[in-house]
Amino acid sequence: MTSTLDQITAFKNEAVKDFSDPADAAAMRAALDAVKDGFGKDYPLVIDGKRVETEKKIRSLNPADPTQLVGLTSSASKEQAAEAIEAAARAFESWKRSPPEQRADSIFKAAALLRERRFKYDALLVYEVGKSWSEADGDIAEAIDFLEFYAREALRYARPHPVVPLDGERNEMVYIPLGAGAVIPPWNFAGAIMAGMTAAAIVTGNTVVLKPSSDSAIVAAWFVDLLTEAGVPKGVVNFIPGSGSTIGDLIVSHPLIRFISFTGSKEVGLHINELAAKPQPGQKWIKRVVAEMGGKDSIVVASDADVDAAVEGVAVSAFGFQGQKCSACSRAIVEAGVYDQFLEKLKNRVAKITVGNPADPKNFMGPVVNEAALSSISEYIEKGKREGRLIAGGKRVGDSGYFLEPTVIADVAPDAVIAQEEIFGPVLAVIKARDFDDALRIANNTEFGLTGSLYTSDERKIERARDDFFVGNLYFNRKSTGAMVGAHPFGGFNMSGTDSKAGGPDYLLLFMQAKTISRRL
Ligand code: NAD
Repeated sequence: MTSTLDQITAFKNEAVKDFSDPADAAAMRAALDAVKDGFGKDYPLVIDGKRVETEKKIRSLNPADPTQLVGLTSSASKEQAAEAIEAAARAFESWKRSPPEQRADSIFKAAALLRERRFKYDALLVYEVGKSWSEADGDIAEAIDFLEFYAREALRYARPHPVVPLDGERNEMVYIPLGAGAVIPPWNFAGAIMAGMTAAAIVTGNTVVLKPSSDSAIVAAWFVDLLTEAGVPKGVVNFIPGSGSTIGDLIVSHPLIRFISFTGSKEVGLHINELAAKPQPGQKWIKRVVAEMGGKDSIVVASDADVDAAVEGVAVSAFGFQGQKCSACSRAIVEAGVYDQFLEKLKNRVAKITVGNPADPKNFMGPVVNEAALSSISEYIEKGKREGRLIAGGKRVGDSGYFLEPTVIADVAPDAVIAQEEIFGPVLAVIKARDFDDALRIANNTEFGLTGSLYTSDERKIERARDDFFVGNLYFNRKSTGAMVGAHPFGGFNMSGTDSKAGGPDYLLLFMQAKTISRRL
């Protein structure tokens, strides 16, 4: 492949397909068939460019039909995880010296390859994590965006950064990479977050071990191969699927690990943060931890809101991808004046949501990701029935796949368990607020602070919320999901994490350190 650097244009978000175009729909159907034909393939670890098979396997099942084995990956032992970290540390010595243009070039090439194979990746996400066609395509479009955005950002950081001139000296400040790091993504944006975290780390000159979630290890295996094709040298990305509880602590505490880039639950993020803080024998640095964690996101509906628009925004934010987004609306906080009207309209809207196998595009909602998720969400539903009034859903759909009805529980107290804990499934709590002040107070009453949205036509309420709605991503008169790379740098406050603002101009700084160089003239 020739260099992509001559053709760099301003960053633009990749358009998401709506599949109303018959050609796109046909391409997606063909990709679903092709990916299905490849089910059951076995993917090895990749350590220092070598493919390593293990006896122990991770099985990736289709949550819509768990009798279908989407694929297998090898499962790294502690020794293999340590070998991968050592390989990353060795590769760092040469990769850190490679020109930033070379690194950016390979990420641009990776974006181009992903664009070429877009429907196949979309289809894989339908099968591996139960995404609808458009959710899957949104995920892969976002992955392409991350690659395109971070490659440009790396070139920007590589340019000179002026410092204040001093007589008699030449001073400069340059950004250099950190070292060998761990990339630990979640399964829910199995394409975008996994690819974005990996690309950000390597385009800035670091090397990594990538430990994917066991629920989405196949898409990560595909992506690691794609990076090799795009010219990323051996040892720069080492692929070590494995159970978090078996190899997680070893990776995080290993003395050669310089940084950990994690996205996932609050519990695991806090554990990693704590473990990483403790220096190990032979460790020469304070590990840097970027931990993007959970959410308990609210949409506030003011008494002056367009209620129909609010109902639509809440329904899509709460039930898109089965509520399994960190930005999903899990609390609708509605001012008393429109509460009954909102509930009535929401109930009607939710009744129209179709649930079923996401390989069929008529279904808006697919399955939740695995059996453990099904049972934990079902327990929250039972709790919710005691804590409030069930007005929609509440039951499992069918008995083979992990399908749940979109569930709405009204009259929930602001401090109820289902109003406070992240459920990560299709369950919405509706809370009545006395007035706008009360609504804002309720919106801020959890330990999280990721996304939030307000539907209102009152400028004063918008101004109030700008100041006082304490979330990393605040939206007005639109859904709380669907952040776009570049336009909506993403990350949350409080227990939602370190507010890394993924897809924003500050993100790559988290993978670099600045060196100031002064020379007397
Ligand atoms: P999870 O915390 O269960 O797992 C995340 C990753 O950590 C996985 O790769 C897992 O294998 C690994 N892991 C588990 N135990 C580990 C350990 N002891 N040491 C090291 N790694 C370990 O989360 P999940 O179920 O994959 O993802 C859902 C969670 O992610 C939700 O809480 C969601 O809100 C959050 N999330 C947050 C954002 C954000 O940007 N803030 C984005 C997406 C998802």
